[in-house]
Amino acid sequence: LPDGDINWTKAPCRFCGVGCGVLVGTENGKAVAVKGDPKSTVNKGLLCVKGYHQIMCLQAKDRLTHALVKKNGTYVQTPIQEALDLVASKMKETIEKHGKDAVAMYTSGQSTIPEGYVASKFMKGAIGTNNLDCNARLCMASAVTGFLTSFGADEPMGCYEDIDHADVFVLWGNNMAEMHPVLFSRMLEQKNRRGAKIIDFATRTTRTSMAADKSILFKPQSDLAVANAICYEIIKNGWVNTSFVEKHCSFNKGLTNMGYGLEDNYKFKDKPEKIDFKAYKKFLEDYTPEKVEKISGVSVKDIKYMAAYFGDPNKKVVSYWCMGINQHTRGTWMNNLVYNIHLLTGKISQPGNGPFSLTGQPSACGTAREVGTFTHKLPKGVVTNEKHRRLAAKIWKVPYERIPSKPTYHATEMFRAVDRGEIKFIWTQVTNPLVSLPKTSRYRPGMEKDSCFVVVSDVFPTPTSDVADVILPASWHIEKSGLYGNSERRTQHWDKMVEGPGETTPDAWMTIEVAKRMGFGDLFPYSEENHVEEIYNEYRQFHEGDKHGMAPLEVLKSQPGAIWPYVNGKSTQWRFNAKYDPACSNNEDFHFYGKPDGRAVIWQRPYEPAPEEPDNEYPFWLNTGRVIEHWHTGSMTRRIPVLHKAMPNAYVELHPKDAERLQIKNGDKVKLITRRGEIIMPASVNQRGIPTPLQVFVPFFDENMLINDLTLDSFCPISKEPDYKKCAVRVEKV
Ligand code: SF4
Repeated sequence: LPDGDINWTKAPCRFCGVGCGVLVGTENGKAVAVKGDPKSTVNKGLLCVKGYHQIMCLQAKDRLTHALVKKNGTYVQTPIQEALDLVASKMKETIEKHGKDAVAMYTSGQSTIPEGYVASKFMKGAIGTNNLDCNARLCMASAVTGFLTSFGADEPMGCYEDIDHADVFVLWGNNMAEMHPVLFSRMLEQKNRRGAKIIDFATRTTRTSMAADKSILFKPQSDLAVANAICYEIIKNGWVNTSFVEKHCSFNKGLTNMGYGLEDNYKFKDKPEKIDFKAYKKFLEDYTPEKVEKISGVSVKDIKYMAAYFGDPNKKVVSYWCMGINQHTRGTWMNNLVYNIHLLTGKISQPGNGPFSLTGQPSACGTAREVGTFTHKLPKGVVTNEKHRRLAAKIWKVPYERIPSKPTYHATEMFRAVDRGEIKFIWTQVTNPLVSLPKTSRYRPGMEKDSCFVVVSDVFPTPTSDVADVILPASWHIEKSGLYGNSERRTQHWDKMVEGPGETTPDAWMTIEVAKRMGFGDLFPYSEENHVEEIYNEYRQFHEGDKHGMAPLEVLKSQPGAIWPYVNGKSTQWRFNAKYDPACSNNEDFHFYGKPDGRAVIWQRPYEPAPEEPDNEYPFWLNTGRVIEHWHTGSMTRRIPVLHKAMPNAYVELHPKDAERLQIKNGDKVKLITRRGEIIMPASVNQRGIPTPLQVFVPFFDENMLINDLTLDSFCPISKEPDYKKCAVRVEKV
């Protein structure tokens, strides 16, 4: 088609953590087309089905265009200024009556960097509470604690260019063909061109398995045992990169049997203890391939097959994972275990060699992890560190004592506190917790109680906005300027392209307006027109001259992003390797400078069972996840007709043998029952994916079939990330 008068503007994709570059075509003030940005090194012009159709959600008829305030049980359209007055006065009144820890904000890995930054400054610097957490807690908190415990520095050390160099891709419980489709296409290109191998290690057969060279199925939770068995084999066969380990690694063990966070106010602190290589080797004797075959169902041959690729000095290996490892009651441990494999073999921080945890959301890295919209975080460092609090206080121009030194509620606990009546005001932005929280059947009644005033900012109505006292109409992606940070530490900027309808307003600006009304105007001296730029420039000060240096805005405006640390006008593609990373200061080949001794940690982490396993009453495992057509809770993609038609509703995937035994055919109505509730949905047999016998899989995008009403709210005690992948369920034909 001729471009005509179409004006093309660059942006990162609105949806997943891959962060593909898109070009949005606008004509007469309207977004009319999308194409992949050929200049983007992330996607090289390619997009997936969600990326190509993203702007179509703007045509949805039920867009939230004006503020709505609940009066006598009905929503009344209210001028935005009046609604913001009400939000500010309710927040102020709650603080006056019940203290600053009675108010909370719950934000998102889909918030832009400026949105996350002002939320953090508002809650921690202005009000003085750490009651800020975000939905990224539900998807990659275990990756963060994994990185911090192993390397002392968050986020992957490599970049997407690893795909062009690796000989083998090991996918740990990661259906990349549907979750990170553009990266998977890049891997397939390398498989076809160079014969690179893809190993799919998972609990179900998916589209990823179908394209992989080898599909290895394991029993849920037993990935812990298999990873240890791989380390056992590496040591037994003399495949340890001894000089690397001696120079750059140390060994630790932590606490075991630490519970699953099922009770309220659960507290846990790990106690690392130094061990030596001999003790670690001894620990691994419990994980011989023969013993692990019994726990995991993975054959001795397949364990040795995986270990041999890691052990082969002539093969470059990249491990990829996302929710399969992170949403795990031992998520931090599983992250540590994958790092162990790469550290033992020295396959790390080099082109084509490395462990790479992927993110689900477009700015889980840039906003949630880097700006820090978690209860324990600050834009640099953590609230428990005096130096970090002093730096934040200096840049924010607030008294140092105002920033509390103790974290308060992580996501799950925040909603438990709402239910207990401790939090009396909560503001959610860019997220839909009453679809995405585990065991939503428990948390919905808490949000409905009159004891809590609920404010929801969003683009479309959702089950969360259904319980709000005030609904604020948010601008969508291209109706505002912004910045996102993707999985490979790449920060990307975009300019506002179209006007939003009605009184829609950027989330950052709504936060600033409420802050001003509460008397904090001095701390938010930004202009409405340029607030994104002004906020980003202020945020950059946190990382000036350090190992997280961010690129200047002019650079981000002129090119499809830059990878931090951005040093002397250059992105750093591989951290901790002196050849690529100027922050390595010890004149050696590698330097894990996140740790005081410069050494990465190999952790002794055992296999422990899941908190709820199948039994006679509930004989199946329940696993949940996404499908390629839908983004997150479906609030946007279900309003895109082509995606909705392709995948109109959720379903339960059954193994053909289980279906036959229960006399269930494809499309039959099936009832799923867990200890939390029950739900009816159509069966999927021999369709898109096949779970292992006695396991079912349900996607979570469908608000009319809320599978998260049934999931268990247990979490990793270190990261506090819930496990959506494992609980016990009964299946009945309706
Ligand atoms: Fe967007 Fe992710 Fe698809 Fe890329 S892979 S187009 S970032 S949804």
